[in-house]
Amino acid sequence: MAGPSLGGSLRVLRFKGIGVHVHWTFLLLVGYVAVSAASSGGDLGEVILQLGQVLLVFVCVVLHEYGHALTALHYGVRTRDITLLPIGGVASLERMPEEPMQEFWITIAGPLVNLVIMVLAGVLQWALFGGLHLADPRAGGPLLPALLSFLLTANLGLFLFNLLPAFPMDGGRILRALLGLRLSRVQATRIASAIGRALAAMLGIGGLFFGEPMLALIGLFIWFAAGAEARMVMQQAALRGITVAQVMRTRFWALSAEATVGRAVDELLAGGDQDLVVLLDGALSGLVTRRQLMEALRARREDVRLLELPPTAVRPVSPQQPAQEALQQLAAQGVPLVPVVDEGSVVGVLEPDNLSEFLMVQGARRGGATGR
Ligand SMILES: [Zn+2]
Repeated sequence: MAGPSLGGSLRVLRFKGIGVHVHWTFLLLVGYVAVSAASSGGDLGEVILQLGQVLLVFVCVVLHEYGHALTALHYGVRTRDITLLPIGGVASLERMPEEPMQEFWITIAGPLVNLVIMVLAGVLQWALFGGLHLADPRAGGPLLPALLSFLLTANLGLFLFNLLPAFPMDGGRILRALLGLRLSRVQATRIASAIGRALAAMLGIGGLFFGEPMLALIGLFIWFAAGAEARMVMQQAALRGITVAQVMRTRFWALSAEATVGRAVDELLAGGDQDLVVLLDGALSGLVTRRQLMEALRARREDVRLLELPPTAVRPVSPQQPAQEALQQLAAQGVPLVPVVDEGSVVGVLEPDNLSEFLMVQGARRGGATGR
């Protein structure tokens, strides 16, 4: 998988400038495996064997992620880090190339690593023991044959699971890249996401029908992940080349920092916005939210100037900035809107709603679907 960086992780190794981090939740998996091996009557040897198997799978996962990262590097895209989660690995690429063939090779490189390990293990097995055997995790026996059949089975599983044609699996991206050779990125994403959802529904229904709750759970997970991924990609694609100036709201509510809480409340009743942009000598001072106004009112501070509340500091965006980047800044600051400042004066505000409105208008203009 390729996705954003995650906090709460510890770096365990570094290769080619890419650190491998283990997310703390990974310890839950290790603990779960140890406890379930011990509670099912396993002795110490059994517990160690099962933990060893988990570690071996994750070594293969790390190699898979390096497959993505090093192929990305080949196209000049750096990877911030690789994080191991209980459900698998995530390589945080700085960006995913728009060029479909580049996305195709970067994405398929991961599963191909598993294919190579699988073939190597299979060839060794064939050469040494004269046949192919998939692993029975309960079977003991000599170490080398057991190890080879375990590697064969685990990598077959990783290969097939990652190639499921649904976001956020590699297969979803590969499908999108292939469709992108003929279609626009948005169309390709829409189709890939619909196929992913159909697959998720089949897994879910199949899981319920055959009494396999894990299968149904995976189906449910893919259903939601596919929708979220598709929405994000389509929003990114629709906002490409769009600046803050094109989507910002130029009618907004602003008051001087010298104005009183009482005046702000009067204006709020007369039809103000949710949040108030506070200006000090014409320049941005900060934001006052409706909640802040109500709290001041409750504390009988109607005569207090906005300056003294004080307004919440907010880092503004500029009208020339890409809308997508500004949206990320808005989310990172945890404020309901960001003021847009040009040459020292506030020229508009940007809030998440502006973007969905913009996308809806754009969709309607094209005569296509609305901005869901
Ligand atoms: Zn992958």
